[in-house]
Amino acid sequence: MLSRLCAQQQPATLTQTPAVVKFNKRIARRLDHFRAPHTLASPTEKKPPRFENLDLSKSMLKALSQAGYETPTPIQAELIPRALDGIDVIGQAQTGTGKTAAFGIPIIDDLEPRSEVAGPQALVLVPTRELAVQVKNEITKLSEGQRVGCVAVYGGKPIRSQIEKLNRNAQIVVGTPGRVLDHIGRGSLRLNDLWCVVLDEADRMLDIGFRPDIEKILKRCPKDRQTLLLSATLPPTILRLAQRYMYKPETIDCSPAELSVETIEQHYFTVDQGRKFDLLLRLIEQEQPKQAIVFCRTKRGTERIHNQLSQRIKGTACIHGDMQQRARDRVMSQFREGKVRYLVATDVVGRGIDVSSISHIINYDIPQFCDDYVHRVGRTGRMGREGVAFTFVTSEEGGELTKIEQRINRLLIRGEIKGFESQQTSRTSVSEKPKPPPPTSLMRRPPRKHRRRL
Ligand code: ADP
Ligand code: MG
Repeated sequence: MLSRLCAQQQPATLTQTPAVVKFNKRIARRLDHFRAPHTLASPTEKKPPRFENLDLSKSMLKALSQAGYETPTPIQAELIPRALDGIDVIGQAQTGTGKTAAFGIPIIDDLEPRSEVAGPQALVLVPTRELAVQVKNEITKLSEGQRVGCVAVYGGKPIRSQIEKLNRNAQIVVGTPGRVLDHIGRGSLRLNDLWCVVLDEADRMLDIGFRPDIEKILKRCPKDRQTLLLSATLPPTILRLAQRYMYKPETIDCSPAELSVETIEQHYFTVDQGRKFDLLLRLIEQEQPKQAIVFCRTKRGTERIHNQLSQRIKGTACIHGDMQQRARDRVMSQFREGKVRYLVATDVVGRGIDVSSISHIINYDIPQFCDDYVHRVGRTGRMGREGVAFTFVTSEEGGELTKIEQRINRLLIRGEIKGFESQQTSRTSVSEKPKPPPPTSLMRRPPRKHRRRL
């Protein structure tokens, strides 16, 4: 790899256009990093994290201040300098910690001028359509005043308009793996000029069965590219993928010692299955959430609860994987604008949604997997704001409740509402303090043979 990089560094054979100068600078930085990795400040001599100390351009600093970003989050402070060094990085951090900007900032700042490079320079793979839109919006926000061409490509939208946008000199492409492959197959997405590939929410992409598609895409990307992988968790499947497709990746672990949702008040209610809906109504009435997501386990359940809820309350909507993309987009933008106050959702679409005014999460159905609990609850309390989460637990689901408590290393507070007492949920003998998660925690989630469609 290094020799290949050195071989590319032959300025004599290349005209010194701004793009070539920038390219050489990037390669030189990468070489420097491998020769002397200690040039990154050691934790003790680190300056306090400030965007001004991260070697960013003036226009980027201006865009950041316009976005209201005053200081980098931990993952940003760690990842940006390494990404600017051109090396491969695995960044682990919880949801809501600013991972999008962590990879978006260095990519935008290193883009070569549109006039110099014809094809897309960076490709960001994301698990869902909603995230594709969200990441694109964040990149647009961060490139304020810089005329950066960013295109989101995802299924459910007419391919024609995406092709047109790709042709109009897209510099950054954000997309779901299936649609990206489709564009590659049609020749509408050229990969030759890519110098950076990002696997965002990598754990989720693998969960929903995107590994073969991701591998197909990575195999076709230029070998000398930089690869950045962002994930809340690093199960062995991700590490294997990284081993195969990344070059000497550096791992940054910004996850808290225990995966938990510290600032969020978390309650559970024991309730009989047949009384859940009445409890939901009562809670909404009592809490008057600013905005809430009501999570259900299945698509059918999501629709049913939404139908019932919409007959009683204004400002409700639902979202799940079977809906037409146009309807999903409409619901998401109405939710962002605050026109929808109560969103009934399944896990797949709930994951990664970043709407800062979500005050309440209601787990109408207890999540099947502990990870899903953390991700659902993480939709509130974004960027350190406070939030409240309620989980409905039937008497047979005590075991699931215990597993969640073990995972977050904290007991949920038992909530009681008069008239809704069920038989006591039998937690599987939880002592005062739940046991910390076992060391094999990375493998906690059972492997799924089939793509889980929610
Ligand atoms: P993640 O990908 O880790 O789940 P996001 O990238 O979606 O997190 O960021 C969560 C929210 O934090 C977004 O609304 C984003 O605009 C905001 N954000 C990111 N970085 C900063 C920062 N440095 N200062 C303030 N807000 C930030
Ligand atoms: Mg993210």
